[in-house]
Amino acid sequence: MSKISILPELLINKIAAGEVIERPAAIVRELIDNSIDAGARTISVEILYGGKKLIKIADDGTGMDRDDVTLCFERHATSKIKSEDDLFNITTLGFRGEALASIAAVSKVTLTTSTANSPVGTKIEIMPGQKKEITDAPSLSGTILEMRDVFYNTPARRKFLKSVSTEMSHIIETVTQKALAYPEISFSLRHNDSEVINLPSAKDLRERFNQLYSEELFNKFLEVKKETRGIKLYGYVSAAEFARSAKTYQLIFINRRPVKNPAIAHAVYNVYKDLIPKDKHPAFFLFLDVDPQKVDVNVHPAKREVRFESPDEIYRLVESAIKEVLIPKQHKDISYAQIDDGQLSTVNSQRSFGSQFIRETLESALESSRGMQSDFFTQGVVPAIHRYFYIGESFYAEATKDCLIIIDQHAAHERVLYEKFLKKGKIEVENLFLPVRVELPAKEFNIVMDNKNIFHDFGLHIEEFGANSVIIRALPKEINKADIKGLLLDVASVIFEENIPAEDASKKEELLKNIAAKLACHKAVRGREQLNNEELSHLIAELEKTEAPDKCPHGRPTRIFFSLYDLLKMFKRK
Ligand code: ADP
Ligand code: MG
Repeated sequence: MSKISILPELLINKIAAGEVIERPAAIVRELIDNSIDAGARTISVEILYGGKKLIKIADDGTGMDRDDVTLCFERHATSKIKSEDDLFNITTLGFRGEALASIAAVSKVTLTTSTANSPVGTKIEIMPGQKKEITDAPSLSGTILEMRDVFYNTPARRKFLKSVSTEMSHIIETVTQKALAYPEISFSLRHNDSEVINLPSAKDLRERFNQLYSEELFNKFLEVKKETRGIKLYGYVSAAEFARSAKTYQLIFINRRPVKNPAIAHAVYNVYKDLIPKDKHPAFFLFLDVDPQKVDVNVHPAKREVRFESPDEIYRLVESAIKEVLIPKQHKDISYAQIDDGQLSTVNSQRSFGSQFIRETLESALESSRGMQSDFFTQGVVPAIHRYFYIGESFYAEATKDCLIIIDQHAAHERVLYEKFLKKGKIEVENLFLPVRVELPAKEFNIVMDNKNIFHDFGLHIEEFGANSVIIRALPKEINKADIKGLLLDVASVIFEENIPAEDASKKEELLKNIAAKLACHKAVRGREQLNNEELSHLIAELEKTEAPDKCPHGRPTRIFFSLYDLLKMFKRK
Protein backbone atom coordinates (compact mmCIF):
# COMPACT_ATOMS: atom_id res chain seq x y z
CA MET A 1 0.00 0.00 0.00
CA SER A 2 1.49 3.33 -0.96
CA LYS A 3 1.43 6.00 1.74
CA ILE A 4 1.76 9.06 -0.45
CA SER A 5 -1.15 10.87 -2.09
CA ILE A 6 -1.58 14.22 -3.78
CA LEU A 7 -3.58 16.60 -1.56
CA PRO A 8 -7.00 17.81 -2.75
CA GLU A 9 -7.10 21.29 -4.35
CA LEU A 10 -9.01 22.94 -1.47
CA LEU A 11 -6.55 21.64 1.11
CA ILE A 12 -3.60 22.87 -0.98
CA ASN A 13 -5.18 26.31 -1.09
CA LYS A 14 -5.86 26.29 2.65
CA ILE A 15 -2.19 25.47 3.28
CA ALA A 16 -1.11 28.30 0.98
CA ALA A 17 -3.55 30.61 2.77
CA GLY A 18 -1.66 29.94 6.00
CA GLU A 19 1.46 31.51 4.51
CA VAL A 20 -0.04 34.35 2.54
CA ILE A 21 -2.89 35.56 4.70
CA GLU A 22 -2.21 35.00 8.34
CA ARG A 23 -4.71 37.64 9.52
CA PRO A 24 -7.33 40.05 8.11
CA ALA A 25 -4.73 42.81 7.60
CA ALA A 26 -2.81 40.51 5.24
CA ILE A 27 -5.97 40.04 3.16
CA VAL A 28 -6.40 43.80 3.04
CA ARG A 29 -2.77 44.10 1.91
CA GLU A 30 -3.21 41.54 -0.90
CA LEU A 31 -6.45 43.10 -2.12
CA ILE A 32 -5.08 46.65 -2.07
CA ASP A 33 -2.04 45.35 -3.98
CA ASN A 34 -4.37 43.93 -6.62
CA SER A 35 -6.21 47.25 -6.90
CA ILE A 36 -2.92 49.14 -7.24
CA ASP A 37 -1.68 46.68 -9.89
CA ALA A 38 -4.98 47.25 -11.73
CA GLY A 39 -4.14 50.97 -11.94
CA ALA A 40 -6.77 52.17 -9.45
CA ARG A 41 -6.86 55.91 -8.56
CA THR A 42 -9.33 55.42 -5.71
CA ILE A 43 -9.41 52.52 -3.25
CA SER A 44 -12.06 52.24 -0.53
CA VAL A 45 -11.88 49.67 2.22
CA GLU A 46 -14.81 48.75 4.44
CA ILE A 47 -14.40 46.54 7.48
CA LEU A 48 -16.82 44.96 9.94
CA TYR A 49 -15.54 43.70 13.30
CA GLY A 50 -11.83 43.96 12.64
CA GLY A 51 -12.25 42.08 9.36
CA LYS A 52 -13.61 38.98 11.04
CA LYS A 53 -17.10 39.58 9.61
CA LEU A 54 -16.42 41.50 6.40
CA ILE A 55 -13.61 42.91 4.31
CA LYS A 56 -14.80 44.85 1.29
CA ILE A 57 -12.55 46.62 -1.19
CA ALA A 58 -13.74 48.72 -4.10
CA ASP A 59 -11.47 50.17 -6.78
CA ASP A 60 -11.72 52.05 -10.06
CA GLY A 61 -8.98 50.05 -11.78
CA THR A 62 -9.04 48.18 -15.09
CA GLY A 63 -11.53 45.56 -13.88
CA MET A 64 -11.73 42.09 -15.44
CA ASP A 65 -13.67 40.61 -18.32
CA ARG A 66 -15.65 37.41 -17.88
CA ASP A 67 -12.87 35.06 -19.00
CA ASP A 68 -10.47 36.49 -16.44
CA VAL A 69 -13.09 36.39 -13.71
CA THR A 70 -13.53 32.66 -14.17
CA LEU A 71 -9.78 32.14 -13.96
CA CYS A 72 -8.63 34.57 -11.29
CA PHE A 73 -9.52 32.37 -8.29
CA GLU A 74 -7.51 29.44 -9.61
CA ARG A 75 -4.20 28.76 -7.96
CA HIS A 76 -1.22 30.25 -9.87
CA ALA A 77 -3.58 32.31 -12.02
CA THR A 78 -1.93 35.65 -12.74
CA SER A 79 -1.87 38.28 -15.45
CA LYS A 80 1.40 39.73 -14.14
CA ILE A 81 4.09 37.34 -15.31
CA LYS A 82 4.23 34.89 -18.17
CA SER A 83 7.75 33.45 -18.26
CA GLU A 84 10.76 32.78 -16.07
CA ASP A 85 12.46 35.93 -17.40
CA ASP A 86 9.60 38.05 -16.04
CA LEU A 87 10.32 36.70 -12.58
CA PHE A 88 13.54 38.71 -12.51
CA ASN A 89 11.98 41.93 -13.69
CA ILE A 90 8.90 42.37 -11.55
CA THR A 91 7.20 45.74 -11.75
CA THR A 92 3.89 44.78 -10.12
CA LEU A 93 3.12 44.11 -6.46
CA GLY A 94 1.56 40.70 -7.14
CA PHE A 95 2.98 37.95 -9.35
CA ARG A 96 2.48 34.67 -7.52
CA GLY A 97 -1.17 34.26 -8.44
CA GLU A 98 -2.14 32.82 -5.11
CA ALA A 99 -3.85 35.55 -3.10
CA LEU A 100 -7.35 35.19 -4.54
CA ALA A 101 -7.15 31.37 -4.51
CA SER A 102 -6.09 31.46 -0.85
CA ILE A 103 -8.74 33.96 0.14
CA ALA A 104 -11.47 31.98 -1.60
CA ALA A 105 -10.35 28.84 0.27
CA VAL A 106 -10.94 30.32 3.73
CA SER A 107 -13.90 32.71 3.36
CA LYS A 108 -17.07 33.42 1.40
CA VAL A 109 -16.21 35.66 -1.52
CA THR A 110 -18.24 37.80 -3.91
CA LEU A 111 -16.45 39.68 -6.68
CA THR A 112 -18.18 42.17 -8.98
CA THR A 113 -16.19 43.67 -11.80
CA SER A 114 -16.26 45.15 -15.26
CA THR A 115 -13.77 46.66 -17.67
CA ALA A 116 -14.00 50.32 -18.67
CA ASN A 117 -16.24 50.21 -21.69
CA SER A 118 -18.15 46.99 -21.27
CA PRO A 119 -21.92 47.47 -21.11
CA VAL A 120 -22.34 44.64 -18.65
CA GLY A 121 -20.31 43.49 -15.68
CA THR A 122 -19.76 40.11 -14.03
CA LYS A 123 -20.51 38.88 -10.53
CA ILE A 124 -18.99 35.71 -9.16
CA GLU A 125 -19.87 34.08 -5.84
CA ILE A 126 -17.66 31.46 -4.28
CA MET A 127 -18.14 29.25 -1.25
CA PRO A 128 -15.06 27.14 -0.45
CA GLY A 129 -15.29 23.71 -2.05
CA GLN A 130 -18.45 24.54 -3.99
CA LYS A 131 -19.13 25.37 -7.64
CA LYS A 132 -18.62 29.04 -8.54
CA GLU A 133 -21.73 31.00 -9.50
CA ILE A 134 -21.34 33.56 -12.26
CA THR A 135 -24.06 36.08 -13.17
CA ASP A 136 -24.42 39.44 -14.97
CA ALA A 137 -23.96 42.62 -12.96
CA PRO A 138 -24.27 46.33 -13.65
CA SER A 139 -21.18 47.81 -15.31
CA LEU A 140 -18.98 49.66 -12.78
CA SER A 141 -15.55 50.25 -14.36
CA GLY A 142 -13.60 48.70 -11.59
CA THR A 143 -13.80 45.91 -9.06
CA ILE A 144 -15.56 45.29 -5.76
CA LEU A 145 -14.43 42.34 -3.72
CA GLU A 146 -16.31 41.31 -0.59
CA MET A 147 -15.19 38.53 1.68
CA ARG A 148 -17.16 37.41 4.68
CA ASP A 149 -16.47 35.22 7.70
CA VAL A 150 -12.75 34.80 7.28
CA PHE A 151 -11.35 31.42 8.43
CA TYR A 152 -14.91 30.19 9.17
CA ASN A 153 -13.92 26.78 7.77
CA THR A 154 -10.49 26.69 9.45
CA PRO A 155 -11.39 26.98 13.17
CA ALA A 156 -7.79 26.42 14.27
CA ARG A 157 -6.75 29.59 12.44
CA ARG A 158 -9.81 31.52 13.51
CA LYS A 159 -8.84 30.88 17.11
CA PHE A 160 -5.59 32.79 16.56
CA LEU A 161 -7.35 35.99 15.59
CA LYS A 162 -6.89 38.68 18.23
CA SER A 163 -9.43 41.20 19.51
CA VAL A 164 -11.35 43.34 17.03
CA SER A 165 -9.30 46.32 18.11
CA THR A 166 -5.95 44.57 17.59
CA GLU A 167 -6.93 43.25 14.16
CA MET A 168 -8.20 46.72 13.30
CA SER A 169 -4.91 48.30 14.35
CA HIS A 170 -3.08 45.97 11.95
CA ILE A 171 -5.50 46.87 9.17
CA ILE A 172 -5.01 50.60 9.80
CA GLU A 173 -1.27 50.05 9.70
CA THR A 174 -1.53 48.23 6.38
CA VAL A 175 -3.69 50.91 4.76
CA THR A 176 -1.36 53.62 6.13
CA GLN A 177 1.69 51.90 4.63
CA LYS A 178 0.02 51.55 1.26
CA ALA A 179 -1.11 55.17 1.40
CA LEU A 180 2.45 56.33 2.09
CA ALA A 181 3.82 54.31 -0.80
CA TYR A 182 1.17 55.58 -3.22
CA PRO A 183 0.40 59.23 -2.40
CA GLU A 184 -1.30 59.73 -5.76
CA ILE A 185 -4.00 57.18 -4.95
CA SER A 186 -6.95 58.23 -2.83
CA PHE A 187 -7.63 55.84 0.08
CA SER A 188 -10.48 55.52 2.52
CA LEU A 189 -11.08 53.10 5.37
CA ARG A 190 -14.31 52.61 7.31
CA HIS A 191 -14.83 50.40 10.33
CA ASN A 192 -18.32 49.41 11.51
CA ASP A 193 -19.72 52.43 9.68
CA SER A 194 -17.37 55.05 11.03
CA GLU A 195 -14.65 56.70 9.01
CA VAL A 196 -11.11 55.82 10.10
CA ILE A 197 -9.00 57.13 7.22
CA ASN A 198 -9.97 59.44 4.39
CA LEU A 199 -7.17 60.58 2.12
CA PRO A 200 -7.76 62.45 -1.11
CA SER A 201 -5.12 61.98 -3.78
CA ALA A 202 -1.92 63.84 -2.76
CA LYS A 203 0.66 65.38 -5.07
CA ASP A 204 3.66 63.85 -3.33
CA LEU A 205 4.92 61.99 -0.26
CA ARG A 206 5.21 65.22 1.71
CA GLU A 207 1.52 66.02 1.26
CA ARG A 208 0.50 62.43 2.09
CA PHE A 209 2.68 62.49 5.19
CA ASN A 210 0.89 65.64 6.32
CA GLN A 211 -2.52 64.12 5.64
CA LEU A 212 -1.63 61.12 7.78
CA TYR A 213 0.47 62.58 10.58
CA SER A 214 -0.22 66.31 10.84
CA GLU A 215 2.13 69.25 10.28
CA GLU A 216 3.26 69.08 13.90
CA LEU A 217 4.79 65.63 13.55
CA PHE A 218 6.08 66.43 10.06
CA ASN A 219 8.19 69.23 11.49
CA LYS A 220 10.11 66.72 13.58
CA PHE A 221 11.41 65.00 10.45
CA LEU A 222 14.16 65.82 7.97
CA GLU A 223 13.92 65.07 4.29
CA VAL A 224 16.35 62.56 2.77
CA LYS A 225 17.06 62.44 -0.93
CA LYS A 226 20.00 60.86 -2.68
CA GLU A 227 20.71 58.91 -5.81
CA THR A 228 23.65 56.79 -6.94
CA ARG A 229 24.03 54.59 -9.96
CA GLY A 230 20.35 54.16 -10.64
CA ILE A 231 19.33 53.61 -7.00
CA LYS A 232 17.09 56.35 -5.68
CA LEU A 233 16.59 56.95 -1.97
CA TYR A 234 13.99 59.36 -0.61
CA GLY A 235 11.90 59.79 2.51
CA TYR A 236 12.06 61.21 6.00
CA VAL A 237 14.09 60.56 9.12
CA SER A 238 13.45 61.93 12.59
CA ALA A 239 15.54 64.77 13.93
CA ALA A 240 17.77 63.55 16.75
CA GLU A 241 15.63 65.36 19.36
CA PHE A 242 12.61 63.33 18.26
CA ALA A 243 14.06 59.95 19.18
CA ARG A 244 11.33 57.53 20.23
CA SER A 245 11.32 55.08 23.10
CA ALA A 246 9.83 52.37 20.86
CA LYS A 247 10.62 51.09 17.40
CA THR A 248 7.51 52.57 15.87
CA TYR A 249 7.53 54.60 12.68
CA GLN A 250 10.33 52.61 11.14
CA LEU A 251 9.27 51.86 7.61
CA ILE A 252 11.33 50.75 4.64
CA PHE A 253 9.85 50.46 1.17
CA ILE A 254 11.65 48.88 -1.76
CA ASN A 255 10.03 49.77 -5.07
CA ARG A 256 7.03 50.94 -3.03
CA ARG A 257 6.72 47.59 -1.28
CA PRO A 258 6.96 47.67 2.56
CA VAL A 259 9.69 45.26 3.65
CA LYS A 260 11.69 44.26 6.68
CA ASN A 261 15.37 44.78 6.06
CA PRO A 262 17.74 44.53 9.03
CA ALA A 263 20.73 45.73 6.97
CA ILE A 264 19.07 49.03 6.02
CA ALA A 265 17.81 49.51 9.58
CA HIS A 266 21.37 48.92 10.78
CA ALA A 267 22.69 51.58 8.42
CA VAL A 268 20.19 54.04 9.90
CA TYR A 269 21.03 53.18 13.52
CA ASN A 270 24.69 53.53 12.71
CA VAL A 271 24.21 57.22 11.95
CA TYR A 272 22.09 57.88 15.05
CA LYS A 273 24.19 55.92 17.49
CA ASP A 274 26.14 58.89 18.82
CA LEU A 275 23.28 61.36 18.54
CA ILE A 276 20.53 59.75 20.60
CA PRO A 277 20.52 57.95 23.97
CA LYS A 278 21.11 54.19 23.83
CA ASP A 279 17.55 53.33 24.91
CA LYS A 280 15.98 55.50 22.20
CA HIS A 281 15.13 54.78 18.58
CA PRO A 282 15.05 56.87 15.44
CA ALA A 283 11.88 57.07 13.35
CA PHE A 284 12.22 56.74 9.60
CA PHE A 285 10.21 56.40 6.43
CA LEU A 286 12.63 55.39 3.70
CA PHE A 287 11.82 54.61 0.10
CA LEU A 288 14.30 52.97 -2.26
CA ASP A 289 13.66 52.73 -5.96
CA VAL A 290 15.90 50.05 -7.40
CA ASP A 291 16.04 48.59 -10.90
CA PRO A 292 13.73 45.54 -10.57
CA GLN A 293 16.44 43.40 -12.16
CA LYS A 294 18.73 44.15 -9.23
CA VAL A 295 16.39 43.06 -6.48
CA ASP A 296 14.77 39.68 -5.90
CA VAL A 297 11.28 40.07 -4.44
CA ASN A 298 10.47 36.38 -4.68
CA VAL A 299 12.02 35.35 -1.36
CA HIS A 300 9.04 35.50 1.01
CA PRO A 301 5.47 34.21 0.48
CA ALA A 302 3.95 37.44 1.80
CA LYS A 303 6.67 39.41 -0.06
CA ARG A 304 7.85 41.03 3.16
CA GLU A 305 11.54 40.53 2.38
CA VAL A 306 13.76 41.21 -0.61
CA ARG A 307 17.32 40.36 -1.61
CA PHE A 308 19.61 42.88 -3.27
CA GLU A 309 22.20 42.23 -5.94
CA SER A 310 24.59 44.59 -4.16
CA PRO A 311 23.55 45.06 -0.52
CA ASP A 312 26.74 46.98 0.36
CA GLU A 313 25.94 49.69 -2.13
CA ILE A 314 22.48 50.12 -0.59
CA TYR A 315 23.94 50.19 2.92
CA ARG A 316 26.41 52.93 2.00
CA LEU A 317 23.78 54.98 0.19
CA VAL A 318 21.41 54.91 3.17
CA GLU A 319 24.13 55.65 5.68
CA SER A 320 25.67 58.55 3.74
CA ALA A 321 22.33 60.11 2.80
CA ILE A 322 21.14 60.19 6.40
CA LYS A 323 24.49 61.43 7.67
CA GLU A 324 24.30 64.34 5.25
CA VAL A 325 20.98 65.59 6.58
CA LEU A 326 21.45 64.72 10.21
CA ILE A 327 24.98 65.65 11.10
CA PRO A 328 25.26 69.11 9.47
CA LYS A 329 21.87 69.94 10.92
CA GLN A 330 23.08 68.98 14.35
CA HIS A 331 26.06 71.32 14.07
CA LYS A 332 23.91 74.28 13.20
CA ASP A 333 21.33 73.46 15.83
CA ILE A 334 21.11 75.72 18.87
CA SER A 335 20.76 72.75 21.15
CA TYR A 336 24.07 71.45 19.88
CA ALA A 337 25.70 74.80 20.56
CA GLN A 338 24.36 74.61 24.07
CA ILE A 339 25.87 71.22 24.51
CA ASP A 340 29.20 72.63 23.40
CA ASP A 341 28.85 75.41 25.92
CA GLY A 342 27.84 72.90 28.53
CA GLN A 343 30.94 70.86 27.87
CA LEU A 344 33.03 73.98 28.15
CA SER A 345 31.53 74.94 31.46
CA THR A 346 31.98 71.41 32.71
CA VAL A 347 35.66 71.67 31.89
CA ASN A 348 35.85 75.00 33.69
CA SER A 349 33.99 73.75 36.68
CA GLN A 350 36.23 70.72 36.81
CA ARG A 351 39.21 73.01 37.07
CA SER A 352 37.76 74.83 40.05
CA PHE A 353 36.06 71.69 41.34
CA GLY A 354 38.31 71.09 44.32
CA SER A 355 38.42 74.60 45.69
CA GLN A 356 34.76 75.31 45.08
CA PHE A 357 33.80 72.07 46.77
CA ILE A 358 35.75 72.96 49.86
CA ARG A 359 34.48 76.52 49.93
CA GLU A 360 30.79 75.61 49.52
CA THR A 361 30.99 72.76 51.95
CA LEU A 362 32.72 74.89 54.49
CA GLU A 363 30.20 77.68 54.12
CA SER A 364 27.22 75.46 54.74
CA ALA A 365 29.00 73.58 57.47
CA LEU A 366 29.62 76.91 59.13
CA GLU A 367 25.94 77.86 58.93
CA SER A 368 24.75 74.70 60.62
CA SER A 369 27.37 73.71 62.95
CA ARG A 370 29.53 76.66 63.92
CA GLY A 371 32.74 75.77 65.54
CA MET A 372 33.07 72.38 63.95
CA GLN A 373 35.28 73.43 61.05
CA SER A 374 38.41 72.02 62.53
CA ASP A 375 36.84 68.58 62.70
CA PHE A 376 35.37 68.91 59.26
CA PHE A 377 37.27 66.18 57.45
CA THR A 378 37.48 63.75 60.31
CA GLN A 379 33.94 64.07 61.60
CA GLY A 380 32.19 63.09 58.41
CA VAL A 381 30.28 66.33 57.98
CA VAL A 382 30.04 65.71 54.24
CA PRO A 383 27.36 63.03 54.26
CA ALA A 384 25.08 65.07 56.44
CA ILE A 385 25.27 68.00 54.08
CA HIS A 386 24.63 65.81 51.03
CA ARG A 387 26.47 67.62 48.30
CA TYR A 388 26.23 66.22 44.86
CA PHE A 389 28.68 67.09 42.17
CA TYR A 390 27.81 67.11 38.54
CA ILE A 391 30.25 65.05 36.51
CA GLY A 392 28.67 65.30 33.07
CA GLU A 393 25.92 63.63 30.99
CA SER A 394 23.49 62.18 33.53
CA PHE A 395 26.00 61.56 36.31
CA TYR A 396 26.55 63.01 39.73
CA ALA A 397 28.98 62.01 42.43
CA GLU A 398 28.27 61.91 46.11
CA ALA A 399 31.00 61.37 48.67
CA THR A 400 30.11 59.93 52.05
CA LYS A 401 32.49 59.13 54.87
CA ASP A 402 33.68 55.83 53.49
CA CYS A 403 32.10 55.63 50.10
CA LEU A 404 31.99 57.30 46.70
CA ILE A 405 28.64 56.98 44.95
CA ILE A 406 28.06 57.71 41.27
CA ILE A 407 24.40 58.38 40.54
CA ASP A 408 22.69 58.26 37.16
CA GLN A 409 19.94 60.84 37.72
CA HIS A 410 17.82 59.67 34.79
CA ALA A 411 17.84 56.04 35.88
CA ALA A 412 17.17 57.04 39.50
CA HIS A 413 14.25 59.24 38.57
CA GLU A 414 12.87 56.50 36.32
CA ARG A 415 12.84 54.05 39.22
CA VAL A 416 11.02 56.52 41.49
CA LEU A 417 8.38 57.37 38.87
CA TYR A 418 7.98 53.75 37.79
CA GLU A 419 7.03 52.60 41.25
CA LYS A 420 4.69 55.54 41.70
CA PHE A 421 2.88 54.67 38.49
CA LEU A 422 2.62 51.01 39.41
CA LYS A 423 1.19 51.72 42.84
CA LYS A 424 -1.96 53.39 41.70
CA GLY A 425 -2.75 55.01 45.03
CA LYS A 426 0.47 56.97 44.79
CA ILE A 427 -0.36 58.91 41.65
CA GLU A 428 -1.74 62.34 42.23
CA VAL A 429 -4.16 63.08 39.42
CA GLU A 430 -4.80 66.69 38.47
CA ASN A 431 -7.77 67.92 36.50
CA LEU A 432 -6.53 70.19 33.77
CA PHE A 433 -7.91 73.68 33.84
CA LEU A 434 -7.63 73.74 30.08
CA PRO A 435 -8.10 70.20 28.69
CA VAL A 436 -5.50 69.31 26.06
CA ARG A 437 -6.55 68.20 22.61
CA VAL A 438 -4.25 65.76 20.85
CA GLU A 439 -4.56 64.58 17.28
CA LEU A 440 -3.32 61.05 16.72
CA PRO A 441 -2.66 58.91 13.66
CA ALA A 442 -5.59 56.53 13.00
CA LYS A 443 -3.88 53.41 14.34
CA GLU A 444 -2.80 54.95 17.64
CA PHE A 445 -6.19 56.65 18.04
CA ASN A 446 -7.86 53.27 17.73
CA ILE A 447 -5.54 51.70 20.32
CA VAL A 448 -5.80 54.60 22.79
CA MET A 449 -9.61 54.72 22.65
CA ASP A 450 -9.92 50.95 23.01
CA ASN A 451 -7.70 50.98 26.07
CA LYS A 452 -9.12 54.10 27.71
CA ASN A 453 -9.47 52.21 30.98
CA ILE A 454 -5.80 51.29 31.17
CA PHE A 455 -4.88 54.94 30.62
CA HIS A 456 -7.43 55.94 33.26
CA ASP A 457 -5.82 53.58 35.76
CA PHE A 458 -2.55 55.42 35.20
CA GLY A 459 -4.24 58.74 35.85
CA LEU A 460 -4.69 59.87 32.24
CA HIS A 461 -8.34 60.72 31.71
CA ILE A 462 -8.95 60.59 27.98
CA GLU A 463 -12.09 61.13 25.92
CA GLU A 464 -12.78 60.83 22.23
CA PHE A 465 -12.99 64.16 20.43
CA GLY A 466 -14.14 63.57 16.87
CA ALA A 467 -12.08 62.10 14.07
CA ASN A 468 -8.74 60.84 15.37
CA SER A 469 -8.62 63.42 18.17
CA VAL A 470 -8.67 62.92 21.90
CA ILE A 471 -9.17 65.29 24.78
CA ILE A 472 -7.16 64.86 27.95
CA ARG A 473 -9.03 66.10 30.98
CA ALA A 474 -6.74 64.95 33.77
CA LEU A 475 -3.15 63.85 34.13
CA PRO A 476 -0.93 62.53 36.88
CA LYS A 477 0.93 65.42 38.45
CA GLU A 478 4.21 63.75 37.54
CA ILE A 479 3.63 63.95 33.81
CA ASN A 480 2.02 67.33 33.73
CA LYS A 481 4.53 68.97 31.45
CA ALA A 482 5.51 65.92 29.42
CA ASP A 483 5.22 65.64 25.66
CA ILE A 484 1.70 64.20 25.87
CA LYS A 485 1.43 63.25 22.24
CA GLY A 486 4.76 61.41 22.22
CA LEU A 487 3.71 59.67 25.39
CA LEU A 488 0.38 58.49 23.95
CA LEU A 489 2.15 57.24 20.80
CA ASP A 490 4.69 55.31 22.84
CA VAL A 491 2.20 53.73 25.23
CA ALA A 492 0.00 52.80 22.26
CA SER A 493 2.95 51.05 20.68
CA VAL A 494 3.58 49.07 23.87
CA ILE A 495 -0.04 47.92 23.91
CA PHE A 496 0.07 47.08 20.21
CA GLU A 497 3.30 45.12 20.37
CA GLU A 498 2.36 43.10 23.43
CA ASN A 499 -0.87 42.09 21.77
CA ILE A 500 -2.30 40.56 24.92
CA PRO A 501 -5.48 38.49 25.00
CA ALA A 502 -7.77 39.90 27.70
CA GLU A 503 -7.86 36.67 29.71
CA ASP A 504 -4.10 36.37 30.21
CA ALA A 505 -3.67 37.93 33.66
CA SER A 506 0.06 37.38 34.11
CA LYS A 507 0.85 38.93 30.73
CA LYS A 508 -1.47 41.81 31.57
CA GLU A 509 0.61 42.54 34.64
CA GLU A 510 3.70 42.55 32.46
CA LEU A 511 1.97 45.01 30.13
CA LEU A 512 1.13 47.34 33.03
CA LYS A 513 4.76 47.24 34.14
CA ASN A 514 5.93 48.09 30.65
CA ILE A 515 3.50 50.99 30.44
CA ALA A 516 4.66 52.27 33.82
CA ALA A 517 8.27 52.06 32.62
CA LYS A 518 7.38 53.97 29.47
CA LEU A 519 5.59 56.72 31.42
CA ALA A 520 8.52 56.91 33.82
CA CYS A 521 11.02 57.15 30.99
CA HIS A 522 9.06 59.98 29.40
CA LYS A 523 9.09 62.19 32.40
CA ALA A 524 12.36 61.26 34.05
CA VAL A 525 15.00 64.01 33.99
CA ARG A 526 17.14 63.79 30.89
CA GLY A 527 20.88 63.47 30.79
CA ARG A 528 22.09 67.03 30.65
CA GLU A 529 19.30 68.72 32.61
CA GLN A 530 21.11 69.65 35.79
CA LEU A 531 19.30 69.32 39.10
CA ASN A 532 20.26 71.44 42.06
CA ASN A 533 21.38 69.92 45.35
CA GLU A 534 17.98 70.21 46.94
CA GLU A 535 16.27 68.45 44.03
CA LEU A 536 18.87 65.73 44.04
CA SER A 537 18.58 65.18 47.81
CA HIS A 538 14.86 64.85 47.35
CA LEU A 539 15.31 62.43 44.45
CA ILE A 540 17.73 60.25 46.41
CA ALA A 541 15.43 60.25 49.44
CA GLU A 542 12.57 59.10 47.18
CA LEU A 543 14.84 56.51 45.58
CA GLU A 544 15.65 55.05 48.98
CA LYS A 545 11.93 54.43 49.54
CA THR A 546 11.54 52.31 46.40
CA GLU A 547 11.60 48.54 46.33
CA ALA A 548 14.66 48.27 44.11
CA PRO A 549 16.60 51.52 44.52
CA ASP A 550 19.68 50.25 42.68
CA LYS A 551 18.07 49.36 39.37
CA CYS A 552 16.05 51.39 36.85
CA PRO A 553 12.89 49.73 35.41
CA HIS A 554 14.96 48.46 32.46
CA GLY A 555 17.44 46.77 34.77
CA ARG A 556 20.31 49.24 34.44
CA PRO A 557 22.02 50.54 37.60
CA THR A 558 20.75 53.77 39.16
CA ARG A 559 23.96 54.19 41.16
CA ILE A 560 27.32 52.55 41.61
CA PHE A 561 29.13 52.42 44.95
CA PHE A 562 32.86 52.52 45.50
CA SER A 563 33.49 51.59 49.11
CA LEU A 564 36.69 52.47 50.89
CA TYR A 565 37.60 48.82 50.49
CA ASP A 566 37.01 49.05 46.70
CA LEU A 567 39.24 52.12 46.55
CA LEU A 568 41.96 50.41 48.53
CA LYS A 569 41.80 47.52 46.08
CA MET A 570 41.82 49.80 43.07
CA PHE A 571 44.86 51.61 44.40
CA LYS A 572 46.50 48.28 44.99
CA ARG A 573 46.77 48.69 48.72
CA LYS A 574 44.83 45.50 49.40
P1 ADP B 1 -1.44 38.08 -8.40
O1 ADP B 1 -1.78 39.43 -7.86
O2 ADP B 1 -0.21 37.53 -7.79
O3 ADP B 1 -1.42 38.03 -9.88
P2 ADP B 1 -3.99 37.29 -7.29
O4 ADP B 1 -4.52 35.98 -6.87
O5 ADP B 1 -3.91 38.34 -6.26
O6 ADP B 1 -2.57 37.05 -7.94
O7 ADP B 1 -4.89 37.84 -8.48
C1 ADP B 1 -5.04 37.04 -9.65
C2 ADP B 1 -5.32 37.91 -10.85
O8 ADP B 1 -6.62 38.49 -10.75
C3 ADP B 1 -4.40 39.09 -11.02
O9 ADP B 1 -3.20 38.74 -11.70
C4 ADP B 1 -5.24 40.07 -11.83
O10 ADP B 1 -5.16 39.82 -13.19
C5 ADP B 1 -6.65 39.76 -11.36
N1 ADP B 1 -7.16 40.72 -10.37
C6 ADP B 1 -7.19 40.53 -9.04
N2 ADP B 1 -7.71 41.61 -8.42
C7 ADP B 1 -8.00 42.52 -9.38
C8 ADP B 1 -8.54 43.84 -9.36
N3 ADP B 1 -8.89 44.45 -8.24
N4 ADP B 1 -8.72 44.46 -10.56
C9 ADP B 1 -8.37 43.85 -11.71
N5 ADP B 1 -7.84 42.62 -11.78
C10 ADP B 1 -7.66 41.94 -10.64
MG1 MG C 1 -2.36 39.79 -5.94
